[in-house]
Amino acid sequence: MRIGALEAGGTKMVCAVGREDGSILEQISIPTTTPAETIPKIIEYFKDKEIEALGVAAFGPVDVNPQSETYGYILDTPKIPWRQANLLGELKKALPVPMGLDTDVNGSCLGEMTYGCAKGLDSVIYLTIGTGIGVGVGINGRPVHGMLHPEGGHILLTRHEDDPEGGICPYHKNCFEGFACGPSIEARWGKKAVELKDRKEVWEMESFYIAQALVDYIMILSPRKIILGGGVMHQEQLFPLIREKVKEMIGGYLNTKELADMDSYIVPASLHDDQGIMGCIKLGLDALNQS
Ligand SMILES: [Zn+2]
Repeated sequence: MRIGALEAGGTKMVCAVGREDGSILEQISIPTTTPAETIPKIIEYFKDKEIEALGVAAFGPVDVNPQSETYGYILDTPKIPWRQANLLGELKKALPVPMGLDTDVNGSCLGEMTYGCAKGLDSVIYLTIGTGIGVGVGINGRPVHGMLHPEGGHILLTRHEDDPEGGICPYHKNCFEGFACGPSIEARWGKKAVELKDRKEVWEMESFYIAQALVDYIMILSPRKIILGGGVMHQEQLFPLIREKVKEMIGGYLNTKELADMDSYIVPASLHDDQGIMGCIKLGLDALNQS
């Protein structure tokens, strides 16, 4: 079986063909410019690939409600040319196969739930911390949508006492993404995260923000595992700092076997940065099974 997978990101579109077991047969990457330029290139790639379904995980906000009139549209994104772009509709016009759609981060969460370290768990949280911060929530094997989809990157947090400038989010003064995404680190310290590896105070502050957010998710959603992906999380020195602060901030209030084993509870993504595209394969498979 050949399943198409499209990881539609703000900077690049990863197009792939995979199989049910999550294996990827071939893959290319197309720069994300404008819908008029990029969407035809995606169609061109998939049109002779003999795929039976297509799974799409898109940057957002994106309308993931199949009942909605604007299902499959990119909504009010900061990427202006893509505002109100009918991504899924354009693909459907050109490629006559069942299609599944979700957010990029829900796609990664689904990839980990299906093929990775969260297999079989009834509640999982996947975070991507990079250019922005996205949070995917998986309950009973399905990504949570609700009225739109969770936007866990924009929860409000307490500012670190040594962070006079605060966050960079244009919507919220004190939100997680504004405090802790890659561009925020760069704005605060004047260098990219990769160039700051040895600056202890950078990671001390970064882990303070990430741990606060995780404690909020833990209290509200009671996840069995928390997976941290994205460019910033390639800074592996963050993991022990985050685990230690989460424990501290919980303050002894919760005592579960999961929290007693922090190294298995707060973990890096397990699929070598293929969790997103593998999640797309699963979205395609689900669409095929429902058709
Ligand atoms: Zn915000």
